[in-house]
Amino acid sequence: MNKKLKAKIALLEPKARNQIEALFANMNDSISLLYDIATTDEKTGLYNNKFFEATLEMELEKARRGQQRLSMMMIDIDFFKKVNDTYGHMKADELLEQLATVVKREIRKSDIAARFGGEEFMMLLPETSLNKAKKLAARLKEAIAKDKFLKKHGIKVSGGITEYRKMDNKKRMKVRVDKALYEAKETGRDKFIAMK
Ligand code: GH3
Ligand code: MG
Ligand code: MG
Repeated sequence: MNKKLKAKIALLEPKARNQIEALFANMNDSISLLYDIATTDEKTGLYNNKFFEATLEMELEKARRGQQRLSMMMIDIDFFKKVNDTYGHMKADELLEQLATVVKREIRKSDIAARFGGEEFMMLLPETSLNKAKKLAARLKEAIAKDKFLKKHGIKVSGGITEYRKMDNKKRMKVRVDKALYEAKETGRDKFIAMK
């Protein structure tokens, strides 16, 4: 609410003032709910693809101006189809949610983790070099291996990592990170491949 409006409302009699203030509070709640719906993936609570794309464009702009390093990571659950076949869809969904929880716990508040596809997550890591991103990957791999629920069901992931380089655009970065992930899959899975 802006200052002028606040001053006007303050002049009203208490009953009207309360009513208007309650209305504004409701409106704020509704806006925040709408924002969550518009930006979040329902199943995992991670950001959705649309939000990821918009943020990527902004972060790329900072990287282009030389204001920051920027890394990207993509992970994909290994043999998730088999997990579905073995434990059923419901359990597989719970495992997907748990993986999202572990990812959220390991990344920084300023990092963006989004659900890219079915069992694929994309992470945008502002102010992060490729080396630092590799360290995060090692930490994440360890956290996944240690998590009791994931471990019990043999959940492992493969990942690709890359860092912004000159002349990059959204597509180039995503193609590179996807290539790195593909290489991780092709060379045995349960690993991260970094591509400069
Ligand atoms: P890999 O990635 O290691 O090559 O093997 P994969 O079996 O994980 O890969 P594939 O792309 O063949 O299959 C992905 C499977 O993930 C298909 C589907 O059964 C499962 N999956 C995707 N999204 C969801 C989801 O939201 N919930 C559940 N339960 N399963 C999903
Ligand atoms: Mg996949
Ligand atoms: Mg998979």
